[in-house]
Amino acid sequence: MEYGIRGRLAIYYDTNSKLQIIEDPLIIVEEEKIVEIGTYDEKRSNLSGHDIIGDSNQLLIPGLVNCHTHIAMTLFRGIADDIPLKSWLEDHIWPLEAKLVDEDVYQGALLGSIESALSGVTAVNSMYWYPGFEAKAISDIGLRGYVAAPILSGITSFEDAYDIIEKHHHTLNEQIRVTFSLHSPYTVTIEDFQKAHQYILDYNENNDKPDLFIHTHLAESSTEMEDSKKFNEKNDQNYPDVETPVELLDSIGVLDDKMIAAHCIHVTGKDIKILKERGTRLSLNPLSNAKLGNHMPPFPDIIKEVDRVGLGTDGPSSNNTLDLFDTIRFLALYYKGFHHSPTIIKSQEIFKLATLGGAKVLNWDGIGTLEKGSLADIVTVNLKKPHLTPSKNPDYVLNHFAYSMKGSDVSNVLANGSLIVQDSTLINRDIESTIEEVEKITQRLVSK
Ligand SMILES: [Zn+2]
Repeated sequence: MEYGIRGRLAIYYDTNSKLQIIEDPLIIVEEEKIVEIGTYDEKRSNLSGHDIIGDSNQLLIPGLVNCHTHIAMTLFRGIADDIPLKSWLEDHIWPLEAKLVDEDVYQGALLGSIESALSGVTAVNSMYWYPGFEAKAISDIGLRGYVAAPILSGITSFEDAYDIIEKHHHTLNEQIRVTFSLHSPYTVTIEDFQKAHQYILDYNENNDKPDLFIHTHLAESSTEMEDSKKFNEKNDQNYPDVETPVELLDSIGVLDDKMIAAHCIHVTGKDIKILKERGTRLSLNPLSNAKLGNHMPPFPDIIKEVDRVGLGTDGPSSNNTLDLFDTIRFLALYYKGFHHSPTIIKSQEIFKLATLGGAKVLNWDGIGTLEKGSLADIVTVNLKKPHLTPSKNPDYVLNHFAYSMKGSDVSNVLANGSLIVQDSTLINRDIESTIEEVEKITQRLVSK
């Protein structure tokens, strides 16, 4: 399909990280790409039979990028809250996950993808089981994303992980890619980290697209250092004399620009320098960190130093939503309060983290921006809402993005050039049947 998208305002960062603001914009989409962007007066002569989307109340922005989630965990939303991370995982989530079958993951991921699409997220980095089913769900809704070739030492096999990479990396119309997902330094041994890292080096050297990455949780809880030491010693691993999880991964040679590390809460100044030097990609997930009582990442220090930083919701059972706008607002407010400083982060920077920043973390060229030639992942937000008024000035609208916009303000979503949400309604899919399926699955899992 070919579309002309109109609005009151388009806001995006170009790939040179320069903020672009266009009033009375027109974006022309053909196939999966943006072929023109400019003012309506400049570009209207290029329209010929394009379907017109949007109106003078719409803000046009790039599709948001969720850099760390477990998208099928919609199945476990709200069923075990107000519990510490260790007990939450060991006593609640892992026993339920042991009962999952592939179709459960498909339905959970379908619901998660629906929730993401309706709130303006078009790209996700998900770490979960049954990646083929997760990939199908993400792609059925029209989103793009990474699924996991999961490694938990002693539980999963490398052969299965290689098979997942072989089967699903760069598939489903190039919408799906795979990460080598090593859960954490307290569940994956030093040897397995090194084995996966070596596989990635070899893979990237021998492929046209050197884009296989490790995705891991790093420095999430205050006990992670102790837990990873115990876990490795139990598995006869020679544990180096290091102070932090970041130092551990660095000392064993696996920390580099092929790693997407989620959380990075318990990091020292020295750790941040190491992450900067290694070019590691970070997903910060402050809302999940707050809910699980894990403390918060030193965000201002991290963004001063580390080049590639994006935002994630984490799984919907530890947030408890996939609406990235909740994370955006929380991030904006928390650090100002904590540091007694209203200037510590500005709305423009937050907008960048949720769009171009996320695209860089995921190494996904052509998303996170609205530049001519980029992939058509475009969101329109209805500005004619009481909580988004006044909105005649672009600066006001950028502030609304950080402080008052919600996922439910999203009107239309194009993903890879296809219209998947129109007038805040998912196209071509019955949401109710997915909600009912998830209700049934969760009941079955908790009742056995
Ligand atoms: Zn996570």
